[in-house]
Amino acid sequence: MSSTRPPIYVTQPHLPPLEEFLPSLQQIWDTKVLTNGGPFHKQLEAALCEHLGVPHIALFANATIALVTALQSLRITGEVITTPYSFVATAHSLLWNGIKPVFVDIDPETMNLDPAKIEAAITPQTTAIMPVHCYGRPCDVEAIQRIADNYNLRVIYDAAHAFGVRQHGHSILTAGDLSVLSFHATKVFNTFEGGAIICPDARTKQRIDHLKNFGFVDEVTVVAPGINGKMSEFNAALGLLQLKHIRAAVGRRAAIDALYRSLLAGVPGLCIPEPAPDTEANQAYFPILVQEGFLLSRDELYALLKAQGIHGRRYFYPLISDFPMYRGLPSADARGLPHARRVSTQVICLPIYPDLSDEDVARIAEVIRSAQLCQATQQVPALHRAAA
Ligand SMILES: *Cc1c(COP(=O)(O)O)cnc(C)c1O
Repeated sequence: MSSTRPPIYVTQPHLPPLEEFLPSLQQIWDTKVLTNGGPFHKQLEAALCEHLGVPHIALFANATIALVTALQSLRITGEVITTPYSFVATAHSLLWNGIKPVFVDIDPETMNLDPAKIEAAITPQTTAIMPVHCYGRPCDVEAIQRIADNYNLRVIYDAAHAFGVRQHGHSILTAGDLSVLSFHATKVFNTFEGGAIICPDARTKQRIDHLKNFGFVDEVTVVAPGINGKMSEFNAALGLLQLKHIRAAVGRRAAIDALYRSLLAGVPGLCIPEPAPDTEANQAYFPILVQEGFLLSRDELYALLKAQGIHGRRYFYPLISDFPMYRGLPSADARGLPHARRVSTQVICLPIYPDLSDEDVARIAEVIRSAQLCQATQQVPALHRAAA
């Protein structure tokens, strides 16, 4: 029966009706302005500042180039404190700048960098902190800023998950020195591929705009070894259209989040992280933790869901610090990262996206609930043996 159903993935990109995009394409074809800060690029920057409640934004081809450029723009060198519990691009952006990542453990409640552990990791080489608002849940930005101010460190947030997130009534994206967004196909707001840096002032934006365009200031002046990080007109035009639908899309995510919470409440051994207090969330992900007391292990449940055509993802497993280019670092030693390690072996992100139906959410919840009820030796013997 399950084989006749189309598979359900952890996410499915949200797209506007194609007819709505055709006039923009026509305009691009008519004007032949394809990139280099064209009219759609300018409009999208203005519209995003307005929507997000931020002063300045510089659009990018993707978030990884934006992270690399953000570090360049602040001339970050030496060591940077970051989280092992993220997507690899966070730490990769440091290696691309010749910076040594220093991994610090997460707070198991929030899954974000634990501010209480940061100070012990600071050395004379430390120049910055790169936290991640994991799953869009705001970091403790005040505690992080206090440490940064005390030690004269910069803070660059990897805010790839945090599009539109607000806490205590204002955008989380203005915390720290810079924040980097991703508009990749899998994210809450997508431009197929894309990203952005939120900048505090016009001068910073200008420097970043130079860096994303080879360092060109004018036709004959190059002020820095910049890169090509520009967003094209195609992506910017799509972004403008996506923005019209974003409130409805996030609203639907919130409804799915609420439905999962009610259907999965009280399952023994299943931990569903509480939403952050006083926060307008974006429900970018729906992580569950499979803990002691659940009949199956995380990997058994993951495999059981997969066998039913439900493709959750183990974000974030393995830890970044376990990948070969990082595991030799002293801070990658697992003994220093107990919470990140435990959470990474327990987590599954369940499917969540605007077009996911209530029926599918109910079915996914039912598979999880019944997994807890069925006898190990009856319904899933192969899975149990495979994992033993
Ligand atoms: C998606 C993601 C990135 C990379 O974004 P791209 O736009 O794909 O380059 C970086 N950091 C985190 C935490 C992400 O989830």
